[in-house]
Amino acid sequence: MKKYDFLIVGSGLFGSVFAHEMTKMGKKCLVIEKRDHKGGNVYCESVEGINVHKYGPHIFHTNDKGIWDYVNSFVEFNNFIYSPLANYQGQLFNLPFNMNTFYQLWKIGNPKEVEKKIKEQIEKENITAPQNLEDQAISMVGADIYNVFIKGYTEKQWGRKAKELPKFIIKRLPVRFTYDNNYFNDTYQGIPIGGYNKLIDGLLDGIEVRTGVDFFKDRNELIQITDRVVFTGKLDEFYDYKFGHLQYRSLRFEHKYLNLPNYQGVAGINFTDLNVPYTRIIEHKHFEFGKQKGTVITKEYPQEWSLGSEAFYPINDRMNMERLGVYQRLAKKEEKVIFGGRLAEYKYYDMHQVIASALSKVKKIIQADTMP
Ligand code: FAD
Repeated sequence: MKKYDFLIVGSGLFGSVFAHEMTKMGKKCLVIEKRDHKGGNVYCESVEGINVHKYGPHIFHTNDKGIWDYVNSFVEFNNFIYSPLANYQGQLFNLPFNMNTFYQLWKIGNPKEVEKKIKEQIEKENITAPQNLEDQAISMVGADIYNVFIKGYTEKQWGRKAKELPKFIIKRLPVRFTYDNNYFNDTYQGIPIGGYNKLIDGLLDGIEVRTGVDFFKDRNELIQITDRVVFTGKLDEFYDYKFGHLQYRSLRFEHKYLNLPNYQGVAGINFTDLNVPYTRIIEHKHFEFGKQKGTVITKEYPQEWSLGSEAFYPINDRMNMERLGVYQRLAKKEEKVIFGGRLAEYKYYDMHQVIASALSKVKKIIQADTMP
């Protein structure tokens, strides 16, 4: 008999939920993690008592009461509501696009008049068959909103001109005709009190975790000690990139401690002008209504991805999706390996979705295992 029922590669939310649930079912799990800490991309580093979201700001939001109760069973969440601002050439606007934004942009305060203004702008451009992201966005919200809020930000995000980007990137551009700055529409929102590490610690409580261990360095020995592997790393890497790389967009974070209590008065400001090289500044203490003496801010710079840099956003264009299909066909044939999470599925998942996906995977496996 093998020492472990499951070797779980990766201690992000997928791996941690999977390990927790299987341990509850009496299975023996070992979690390995190549970074020097648990938690994957939700990990927070404590700096002078401030939880710094090291891999990008994370706001938990869901409409699923079951998932909300699940995470709250490990750590209590606060009532933080994400209401970021946009800074365009020094002027501040509320986000997401709502009556506050439109008033700041046009000094029009009446919803009907704003609707009329947007409609006129869309009609003026008369784009009937959008060919690229720029056309697509203008045909949905008109030129003013596009030029102030979308063009520069998107071009920085993708490192390409909006006219060269495919239109499928923008499927929806929600505009609200109410004075409502709540970024997400979900019923349940918040940040774990004390940070995301508490959630991960709760999930992995009592489970053997080895950090600083890369599956690929000790692959042969590791598969000897386990019955099954749960792999949450990169799918193409699992197959030694033999059909080529799956591509990503990456980010660089510049974190800075400042000796002042409040830098920008809000958790997030997006910089929508192309001439500012970063896309946003995050001030972490505001996620938890922090009262510390100092503050930590992070400037976020989108980057080209290359092998070795952090893989953040999958690029779902045709070439990558075809390549993914080839790898997925191989993955389907594996009998002792389960693939899950954002990297193994090459899919953008929000936290509530990745938790739901891990719970559903566990359920399926348990059902299959108990079938006569
Ligand atoms: P990960 O967290 O990436 O975990 C995978 C783990 O596997 C990593 O720790 C990695 O080091 C490890 N690993 C990989 N390969 C190996 C190997 N060979 N050996 C050992 N270990 C390995 N979601 C929200 O709901 N709200 C938000 O506000 C939000 N903001 C985001 C902001 C940014 C910038 C990004 C990129 C994502 C954001 N998300 C947000 C999404 C959220 O980060 C993901 O849903 C979640 O982290 C996915 O968890 P995971 O376990 O699939 O992946």
